[in-house]
Amino acid sequence: MTGWKAILTLQEQWSRDHSHRYRISVDDAVTLYDEAPLWALRRSANRRRKAMHPTNEVTYLIDRNVNYTNVCTINCQFCSFYRPPGHSESYTQSIDEISARFTELEAIGGSRVLMQGGVHPELPMEWYENLIAQLKHRHPSILLDCFSPIEIDGIADVTGISTLEVLTRLKQAGVDGLPGGGAEMLVDEVRNDVSPKKHRAGAWMRIMQEAQSLGLTTSATNVIGFGETNEQRIAHMDFVRGSQDESIEKWDNGFTSFISWPVQLEVNSFGRRNHGHNRIELGVGASEYLRHLAISRLFLDNVEHIQASWPTMGLEVAQIALLGGADDIGSTMMEENVVSASGTTRVEVSTEELQMVIIRAGLKPRLRNSKYALLETPPAGEVLSELACPPPRQY
Ligand code: SF4
Repeated sequence: MTGWKAILTLQEQWSRDHSHRYRISVDDAVTLYDEAPLWALRRSANRRRKAMHPTNEVTYLIDRNVNYTNVCTINCQFCSFYRPPGHSESYTQSIDEISARFTELEAIGGSRVLMQGGVHPELPMEWYENLIAQLKHRHPSILLDCFSPIEIDGIADVTGISTLEVLTRLKQAGVDGLPGGGAEMLVDEVRNDVSPKKHRAGAWMRIMQEAQSLGLTTSATNVIGFGETNEQRIAHMDFVRGSQDESIEKWDNGFTSFISWPVQLEVNSFGRRNHGHNRIELGVGASEYLRHLAISRLFLDNVEHIQASWPTMGLEVAQIALLGGADDIGSTMMEENVVSASGTTRVEVSTEELQMVIIRAGLKPRLRNSKYALLETPPAGEVLSELACPPPRQY
């Protein structure tokens, strides 16, 4: 296939008529990245989104983050959250402290806790099993998406068992899914530069596939702006797409969604080390983020949901993303500590704000849980009456 116009024409034909499926190749995607104008990418991605989600609903989730420990031995350069073992600011929360955070979420009608921490060098398997079993017992209505693949690897190392066994025991204790964190760029050349002690791309994907084989909920994430090439960005998406094909065929269970965002550079050693350095350009602005998101919608034909990232891009850019490929705006994210430690714009929004952003884009807000099951959506009546005479707002 040559030329961005021809690629997008075939893609749009598929969006209009489902019988003419056109899967974009890696070369096509690189061509789109290098050559297609943003308006054309966004138009095609928006049409693809409408073809996949014809109700024009945009989903959101009421949840909270719990970062049970900030002790970590991996030392990723872009991370401002972790503290090494023994550091005066390091912490590990008790079950009661964590449970109190669940109670706060229940009070606002939340349905999911995303719990992740650092890679702790000492906590044994039994600590995690006891934590999850207690939380499930005390808060049975909350879905538990806990421990990203690097933490699963860490628990396996400390305990001396396989990652599959760790996942199996966590599922028995009450875990419902894994957070998609730690994927960053699933290209080892990039990982070696920014987080050399973190496991390789293949290990991240293997653990996600193990989780999928057990029926756990998973999502795929992608951080851009490390100085990687467009080819490497597409290689990341291609790894996700290939794995997704395999997981759906074997277990009828793959990634629910794909979420990308730019690396945050304000308060971490990666930003300090490379700012002003001529070797690479770091970070990603709004237009490049929207380009990446639109291409992800077009390329990942087997991933149902593309999520806009308001915590890193702000609500305005996230709203623009809803008309350029995204069908989900993520969650209220009460108490996000990991990405925000590196300088994100916002760290928390209310349900009403998310609803308003969706409605103002001309779309319909729809509450979901972490499995993307649709829930009864709180009425947007007050939001709409506010829209009749909107006050000036600072997003
Ligand atoms: S990103 Fe995760 S694994 Fe890396 S240093 Fe931070 S807490 Fe540790």
